[in-house]
Amino acid sequence: MVVPYKHEPFTDFSVETNKQKLLDALKEVEEGYGKEYPLIIGGERIMTEDKIKVVNPANKDEVLGYVSKANKELADKAIAVANETFEKNGVNPIRFSEPTFYSAQQQSYGAAKRNLPHILLKKQESHGKKQTPILEGIDFLEYYGRQMLRIKDGVEVESRPIENNRFDYIPLGVGLVISPWNFLFAIMTGTTVAAMVTGNTVLLKPASATPIIAYKLMEVLEEAGMPAGVVNYIPGPGSEVGDHLVDHPKTRFVSFTGSRDVGTRIFERAAVVHEGQKWLKRTIIEMGGKDTIVVDKEADLELAAQSIVQSAFGFSGQKCSACSRAVIHEDVYDQVKDRVVELTNELTVGNTSDPSNIYMGPVIDQAAYDKIMSYIQIGKEEGELLAGGTGDDTTGWFVQPTVFGNVDPKARIMQEEIFGPVVALSKGKDFDELIDIANNTEYGLTGAVITNNREHLEQAREDFMVGNLYFNRGCTAAIVGYQPFGGFNMSGTDSKAGGPDYLIQHMQGKTTSEQF
Ligand code: GLU
Repeated sequence: MVVPYKHEPFTDFSVETNKQKLLDALKEVEEGYGKEYPLIIGGERIMTEDKIKVVNPANKDEVLGYVSKANKELADKAIAVANETFEKNGVNPIRFSEPTFYSAQQQSYGAAKRNLPHILLKKQESHGKKQTPILEGIDFLEYYGRQMLRIKDGVEVESRPIENNRFDYIPLGVGLVISPWNFLFAIMTGTTVAAMVTGNTVLLKPASATPIIAYKLMEVLEEAGMPAGVVNYIPGPGSEVGDHLVDHPKTRFVSFTGSRDVGTRIFERAAVVHEGQKWLKRTIIEMGGKDTIVVDKEADLELAAQSIVQSAFGFSGQKCSACSRAVIHEDVYDQVKDRVVELTNELTVGNTSDPSNIYMGPVIDQAAYDKIMSYIQIGKEEGELLAGGTGDDTTGWFVQPTVFGNVDPKARIMQEEIFGPVVALSKGKDFDELIDIANNTEYGLTGAVITNNREHLEQAREDFMVGNLYFNRGCTAAIVGYQPFGGFNMSGTDSKAGGPDYLIQHMQGKTTSEQF
């Protein structure tokens, strides 16, 4: 019996013992700073001359490690190995996914078998460090393992008395997983493991800003007994390795989470059929958002302000789900605006190595810092600067949480994704107009409505066009298995990570019909 899925509980870092354990764990991690990491292809460690230098965004002089960099030749080697491994192992998803399937059972009944979530949990607990992205990674493993159990023996279809019909999902082949630097553990783990538990082999190309955590996942996969060649670790530049593998005739599918520019580029390139390629490539693409919180006039205004601030500035606004616009009924605009500004001014920014004293850490790198600061400049022309507006990149890439008021719904800071701690406030005269403004971008990822009016909630349920719509709460923090995550339009293929349809996008359906 498999124990029903439940998400992992969060850790409260205001509790002194939890905080202390985390600080101790960070010290331990620091001892590994500056190390060199190889690629892993077919289980073989390959150290390259050319390396990615990974730095701490809170302190750019601190080098976290040097990670080997794949090039076209190594990418070719990796895809050959992944293809061979796929063909050798046949189409038996169970064989690869076994470590995760019974994890909950093993944890509950104390069985001693090795499995991924169990190993991760143990590592976490011994460090007292149950950080949300790690927990979310564990949730993905637990959830996808159970999903795979449901479909591994086929899905029920009808049969007439003269026949036996079956409908099975079988793997696709070699999948290229290109993971993002935000939610660095959770999304990278979720996308890799989804591709793996469905019986495919994987080329994992993590974002260049965060390749070390992906190496750590490789170690855990190996510890869990993953056969060599099933997941291959090949960090490298998108322009060389990424494009080459997206174009490769042996690539069967691409799973990408990241920017709109890269996502659309992958979508276009994957559509081209190359010589020797005998399939149309599948793409699973999650891109950006320009997510809105709508505040009605009959609403809990304190809840509205809290939701805006938390959704805008958590993780320094570097979430595709982040609230970057609030559209507020004109009757309550001033009240909500004043409270948003007050709450924003209370936030602390700095090095988050002490998690209980600092709310907001740095942004990821110089390019992100420069982009966000240039949007702050644009915001100063388009709206009224109410809070923040400054940055400091002398030691790390720090941007103050920034609020602009009275912004035109069509202004650039209301339309373009900034991916940083910047929120624009706009007004509307009635609920219809608030929803129209909320829908006026090319994206459609998350949104929230704060209102006590039931009719308005029902109207929003129909008309607010986003993949993840939340009522009377913020617009971030989807939980695996509870709020499947993914967006409409330019936010991506709406593949819904952590949802019941996610795995089958990595598979193909096969019907067999036997006549008697
Ligand atoms: N799943 C996250 C959330 O609900 C967002 C993921 C992302 O930013 O890519 O906030």
